[in-house]
Amino acid sequence: MHNFYSTNEFESRYTYTGTDLGAVWSADKTDFRVWAPTAEAVQLCLYKSGTPGTEDLIEKVEMTADVNGTWVASKDGDLNGIYYTYLVTVDGKTVEACDPYARTTGVNGQRAMVIDLNSTNPENWAEDRDPNAGKAITDAVIYELHVRDLSADESSGIVNKGKYLGVVEEGTKTKSGIPTGLDHIKSLGVTHVHILPMYDYGFTDETLPLPQYNWGYDPVNFNVPEGSYATDAYNGAVRVKEAKQMIKGLHDAGLSVVMDVVYNHVYEAYDFCFNKIVPMYFSRFDSNGTLINTSGCGNDTASERSMVRKYIVDSVKYWADEYHIDGFRFDLVGLIDTDTINELVTEVHKTHPNVIFYGEGWDMATGITKPNVQMTIQRNAHMVPNFGFFNDTIRDQLKGSVFENTEKGFISGGHFDRNELVKAFRGQTDWAPNPTQTVNYVSCHDNNTLIDRIVLSTREYSREDQIKMNDLAAAFSILSQGVPFFHAGEEMLRTKPENDGGFDHNSYRAPDSVNAFKWNDLEQEEYAKTLAFYKGLVAFRKAHPALRLTTREAVDAVVTNLDCGNDRVLTFLVDGNVPGESAKEMYFVFNGNNHDVTVTLPKGQWNICICGDQAGTKALGTANGEVTVPALSAMVLVKQNSLLMPVLAGAAAVGAAVGIVRALIKNKK
Ligand code: CA
Repeated sequence: MHNFYSTNEFESRYTYTGTDLGAVWSADKTDFRVWAPTAEAVQLCLYKSGTPGTEDLIEKVEMTADVNGTWVASKDGDLNGIYYTYLVTVDGKTVEACDPYARTTGVNGQRAMVIDLNSTNPENWAEDRDPNAGKAITDAVIYELHVRDLSADESSGIVNKGKYLGVVEEGTKTKSGIPTGLDHIKSLGVTHVHILPMYDYGFTDETLPLPQYNWGYDPVNFNVPEGSYATDAYNGAVRVKEAKQMIKGLHDAGLSVVMDVVYNHVYEAYDFCFNKIVPMYFSRFDSNGTLINTSGCGNDTASERSMVRKYIVDSVKYWADEYHIDGFRFDLVGLIDTDTINELVTEVHKTHPNVIFYGEGWDMATGITKPNVQMTIQRNAHMVPNFGFFNDTIRDQLKGSVFENTEKGFISGGHFDRNELVKAFRGQTDWAPNPTQTVNYVSCHDNNTLIDRIVLSTREYSREDQIKMNDLAAAFSILSQGVPFFHAGEEMLRTKPENDGGFDHNSYRAPDSVNAFKWNDLEQEEYAKTLAFYKGLVAFRKAHPALRLTTREAVDAVVTNLDCGNDRVLTFLVDGNVPGESAKEMYFVFNGNNHDVTVTLPKGQWNICICGDQAGTKALGTANGEVTVPALSAMVLVKQNSLLMPVLAGAAAVGAAVGIVRALIKNKK
């Protein structure tokens, strides 16, 4: 049966292409359509409440078989706020299921709710736009955040702790007056806030007053915001409203919003509503009838099937249209085929050309149910030109393998492959056709935080040295060609300590005490200095278009690797002959030695903009001839465009002349 779903015979008969799946509300009536090609009968159950188990059925409505395996029903009147499920009979067995196309649900996502989506829009929603629209993906600086981490700790001073609304509270501070939450993110200068899963997920019990912590990689309802982040998880309208308020608040703060999406698997394959309605259609099975589990989460999504593909495309498009989401990060996208990814990118870009896409393109070797299907992995990057991939090469070369937490890398005195780091700085890791497809990072929510990972592998070093290594890694990854990305809190030496003195490398369900930002840390100099350094790096990147090139050819034209004769020093010269670039040249030195090194500069007078624990767009000092680069640190020098001076002088002369003429005219009157 499972493989029959993937045949041409099944697909040509049962592929529905309409846009009206789910409950389509209007003030006068609501139309329901569900795809259930193997069903003998389908009934619509209408309920007063969304709470599973509550005996408040209003009515059961028989649904009628319609085209391509769909079933329809229509109900007169204003159904906004009415909850519903489907009773589906297949092979004489009847099951109750939520609507896969549910726009919202009651508590814990078991009953869908009919909703007037316009009534959930924040003020001025029609004018709401991506604040970074029109820019290239390489102009983005991405900040990876869990809704709850930002606000959960007492020190945040945020009222709506752990909630969507807590992400966008303004003017929040620690007791000593240090900005927290949204103000902190704004001051960092990042452009995109990437939110860990915020669709409805399964682990967390939304009925609890303080729901359990979870990252949320266990999808239940793909088109519904998670309830535990809403101030009321029972009323389906509240989670929709508050998720939109969060997005609007981020947009108003100049921040674009990326959503982390997990289409590659579901929380419980047999409980997933789509699989209940069309038995196990959504998931891949092997020839023994066993669920394929390459995801490690119990099941893999059969994205190659026509109605799964449509479902994923519709879902992504829905979040872009209805919630104004500006980017999508795909979890384990190596389990999803390239046709599905290209179709969803094309569909979304028709109306939202600004939206960015990237994901985890690890090679997963899943079992695919059709021939000639290509998966979305790094090696196939050329097949999905508008989709970026996390660059594990830059991550592991800088700090050591993510799988061996005591292994050292370039920043910590360990082995590294010089050629790989040169390519990475140029945004030219082998699989990446262009810098637009490499997402450069040294830490994310998975594995140890950056400083924890450094501490684990460099116990013999001082804290001071470990922070230098942190800053060196950050400088390299944030200044490389490509798309910079970092784990929220990396900029303030975020740590996830365990009781035994170790560090949590997989805090997906650890309590807030492990995961939440400890804002009071910023009262100490080492944290405050690191934060200032990150702000400087981001500002420097944003000030220099030559660091944000979009093609391999453009990089080849201006970025040169120079050999300074020291194995643990990487040097690059970047020519400023790029539109909008103010520098004539930039010179980058990354010193991985635990001692100072002296390097010879290319000819001319240079401004030092990044040195030691200081970074920014202003000159910290000048240099020519030779320069000494401190141990375990980056140095970046800028040669100003000498043409700029006569131009400015000329402009001043013209301005003065205009002033004199005006003064003469005035005097005449
Ligand atoms: Ca949930």
